[in-house]
Amino acid sequence: MIDTPTASEAADNWRRLAELVPLVRLYLEPRRGHSEAGRTAPKSKPPLDVDASDLLLYLDVSASFYCSALLMETNDVKRMPDALEDQLRLIAKRYGHFTADADEKIALDFCDEAQELVRKVEVLVIQPLPPQWAGPCAMGECDGGMFQSKAQGTAKCDTCGALMTFSDWAEWLARKAEIVLMDRGEILVALKTLGHPTKSKTLDQWVTRKRVLAVTVAPEMFRLSEVLGLAEKSKRRVAA
Ligand SMILES: [Zn+2]
Repeated sequence: MIDTPTASEAADNWRRLAELVPLVRLYLEPRRGHSEAGRTAPKSKPPLDVDASDLLLYLDVSASFYCSALLMETNDVKRMPDALEDQLRLIAKRYGHFTADADEKIALDFCDEAQELVRKVEVLVIQPLPPQWAGPCAMGECDGGMFQSKAQGTAKCDTCGALMTFSDWAEWLARKAEIVLMDRGEILVALKTLGHPTKSKTLDQWVTRKRVLAVTVAPEMFRLSEVLGLAEKSKRRVAA
């Protein structure tokens, strides 16, 4: 039996891990865009021995271990939640099952594990966020994507290495709007870049009401110029 403050700190740590999982996922796949297939891992290596995918695996193994124990050793836990976050929340909620174990080693392992995982997550997330995907590359045939460095005000292609000021690139994007095809997520990023930030709910409504039609269905791609036109109109309407 371990003391109460240690036990409740462990519960807090498991709960905190559930909250941090979405943040860890942000570090997992910084690249997105047209040419998602065949993308390699980010070139910039984390300075420490923590990698988002390893960490998620570690969290997964750990959560499965403790959830399985709850499944086997309690009467009221009937199934393992699907989402990692929910598994971690369940563990936090049922911390007493482990911290009150007659075998002190089980209790201490439970506390140490949570503390160690929180430490690893914190090491990972104090690194700067990966550069933001901003849109397609401006270089002719290149199907790479431009990543925006907010600090430097630049956009750089992850495939051919083209480097432009962000404003030059945004100007190029506006000129090319007629031919650029993008999925919903990419459209939202592009609209923001072009000064017409639009909520994803609004875009979904335009699609549902057929105010904008997909050019291709699978994958679902839209012409940027069409959506841009709508965004400009609705902004004028709001302003009027
Ligand atoms: Zn390129």
